[in-house]
Amino acid sequence: MFNKLRLLTPGPTPLPEEVRLALARDMIHHRKQAFREIMARVQKGLQTLFGTKHVVLPLSASGSGAMTAAVYSLFAQDEKVLVVEGGKFGERWTSIAKMRGLRPVVLSVPWGQAVRPEDLEQALRQDQEIRGVLVQVSETSTGVLHPVQELAKICQEHDVLLVADGISAVGISPCPMDAWGIDCLLTGSQKGLMLPPGLALIALSERAWARCNVLDPGCFYFNLPAERKKLEKHETHFTTAVNLICGLEESLKILLAEGLEAIYKKQWALTMLARAGARALGLELLAREHYTWGLTSVRLPEGVDGLKLLQIAQEQFGVCLAGGQDQLKGRIVRIGHMGWVDWGDVLAGLYALDRSLVAASGFSGARDYLEQAMAAYQAALAGVPGEVPANVFVRS
Ligand SMILES: *Cc1c(COP(=O)(O)O)cnc(C)c1O
Repeated sequence: MFNKLRLLTPGPTPLPEEVRLALARDMIHHRKQAFREIMARVQKGLQTLFGTKHVVLPLSASGSGAMTAAVYSLFAQDEKVLVVEGGKFGERWTSIAKMRGLRPVVLSVPWGQAVRPEDLEQALRQDQEIRGVLVQVSETSTGVLHPVQELAKICQEHDVLLVADGISAVGISPCPMDAWGIDCLLTGSQKGLMLPPGLALIALSERAWARCNVLDPGCFYFNLPAERKKLEKHETHFTTAVNLICGLEESLKILLAEGLEAIYKKQWALTMLARAGARALGLELLAREHYTWGLTSVRLPEGVDGLKLLQIAQEQFGVCLAGGQDQLKGRIVRIGHMGWVDWGDVLAGLYALDRSLVAASGFSGARDYLEQAMAAYQAALAGVPGEVPANVFVRS
């Protein structure tokens, strides 16, 4: 079928034209003035995006590279860290920590639920050896938003570093690093930042730098103090992904011209749209209370072949949705609505979901689900009291 391809996955995400054009520019040298000027502007934009006065280091790697850099830079062999494990990306923290020779203590959370701050508090009180807490701001495999602001406060009280994987949160929902007291915030380029994969960004707090500066980095490539030193000259330690940095300048321009508050509000409204539409279709949502703003995870009715459904949505409607991972494989659909995605795209996603559900199983819900979805979107944009969570307008 001749359709426009709509990439509605939680990364990679579609790219705005300005970004694509910037990526297509000819190469410039990463140790010359023209590049340094771009890096200086990008750095200012990144600090606004992260809500921090500290440097935000670009690393040429996917998001997991920044996760690796964080673990290796902040903890030494045999140290204990607590990992909040409520999905695939939580598990990744544990794997990296083991690789570094740390002793990870797992705080297990049922997939689809957020960690309870009191459980973290208790774990830290019971085990004084824990030096850091590793968590996702948004656990992309389930669509859950963890209460990072509260977790960070608890970590401050216990003098423990809070390391937050914000890969599907930065530029999507509020996560101001300094205001919330996050010690390490990181993200990747292919989610909220409207860029191709390949760039990771990481920032450290004062006390995280103090730790990092005295530790052996443990690997050759991810050396944050060396990166920081180069960044003072608006350069990177190694040859960076020059064209991604040029694209980043454009995407930051778009995000900051719109304003972060407006971006968060749009993300919130899209989330309301997707959730209302899925509910009207008679589908259950996986993340019920604490849900992220960049994707919506929908449970499929018993007996529906999730993989077949994704195939129909792609082949007949040009809509690329994501499925579940591991224990959720074939059982959920994840509608990504982060980055360069708007209401029209999400409506297309809902329509493709409905039609492929009918084709795959005969299951169908309310006929006016698109209207219900749009009504929820409009109400969210209009700021119906009680609907918009207080932290939508957190300032950095
Ligand atoms: C996408 C994602 C990752 C993985 O990033 P890669 O770029 O694939 O390495 C890690 N954590 C979260 C929360 C993500 O959404």
